[in-house]
Amino acid sequence: MFDSFWGLFSKDIGMDLGTANTLVYVKDKGIVINEPSVVALNQKTNQILAVGKEAKKMVGKTPSHIVAMRPLQHGVVSDFEVTEKMLKYFFDKVHEEISPFLPHRPRVVIGVPLGGTEVEKRAVIQAGKNAGAREVYLVEEPMAAAIGVKMPVGEPSGNFIIDIGGGTAEIAVISLGGIVISQSIRSAGDKLNEDIINFIREEFKLFIGERTAEDVKISIGSARETGENREAFIKGRNLVSGLPQEIIVKEKHIREAIKESIDSLVLAVQETIERTPPELVADLITKGIIMTGGGSLLTGLSEHVAEKTGVPVKVADDPLTAVVRGTSIILEDIDKLASVLTTDQLEKSPQ
Ligand code: ADP
Ligand code: MG
Repeated sequence: MFDSFWGLFSKDIGMDLGTANTLVYVKDKGIVINEPSVVALNQKTNQILAVGKEAKKMVGKTPSHIVAMRPLQHGVVSDFEVTEKMLKYFFDKVHEEISPFLPHRPRVVIGVPLGGTEVEKRAVIQAGKNAGAREVYLVEEPMAAAIGVKMPVGEPSGNFIIDIGGGTAEIAVISLGGIVISQSIRSAGDKLNEDIINFIREEFKLFIGERTAEDVKISIGSARETGENREAFIKGRNLVSGLPQEIIVKEKHIREAIKESIDSLVLAVQETIERTPPELVADLITKGIIMTGGGSLLTGLSEHVAEKTGVPVKVADDPLTAVVRGTSIILEDIDKLASVLTTDQLEKSPQ
């Protein structure tokens, strides 16, 4: 009774709490929020100055008492309090759009990284409840991504998915509504940015920031030769003179910079295939691998993984929204899809 009371005017929410981007789906409305998972804090007063796009603009540009941070940097809740504040901010934003004058106590399905500890999962559940949710359900991201791209996860067949985000790349084989085998590694978007920063420093004695590295990765980064030889201008500070400088970098430089990380990713995929039960490997050959997450958009990556594993690889349509679309499908049918949710959400959140 109490539950249906809130259900009357609360719209259920699906959320992809990614290390790089947070997306929020609201029932009957679609994806209403798609913003960087960044919070700018005044450390003197502990006040939030900005969240999302506004906060991301501040990264690397803040005075000493202000920090622009990513609370989920490596796919874990590294800063519980800030995560909670970020959730609350996004919840409030959704609330304003739906019914600013009515109370809003939604049910929420949140995609969380693979292999999080119980403590981390509880932290997310608690953060969701403190931010106003009446029930919080968790689903592991690769499962949500697979559901989001309409893989038949409930069938007795191998569904192979690779979700490459900012902090982690998650590789999973799903059958009969459960994750059969999985691996999570750090060779993902942020690591590639770091690789580029290090390479440019070593090779060109130029110190560049994270944003610059990410921009150059997206504009001319590639996992294998493209035959295009694209170039980009990048600005930074010369380490010798200490002065600003602009240089031209070529596609092959960026490819070299990220090579080791790409190799680790390929190795992890190969290992996962080796550990997959033979019946499911047979499905893999016919059905192939689906890639999701922003990292899957790296030029040539799907072709490179296909070549190294001998398995067909496809990047999902709109890979950045796969997880949140998955949470929205789960929301429609929470009872039937309970098996895909991680164990500890099954206890309904008490008030
Ligand atoms: P998360 O799930 O961790 O929030 P996302 O799935 O939103 O991550 O992906 C963000 C990552 O994808 C970032 O590291 C970003 O640099 C990377 N990315 C986005 N677009 C591209 C692209 N076109 N090429 C390479 N990397 C990309
Ligand atoms: Mg993600």
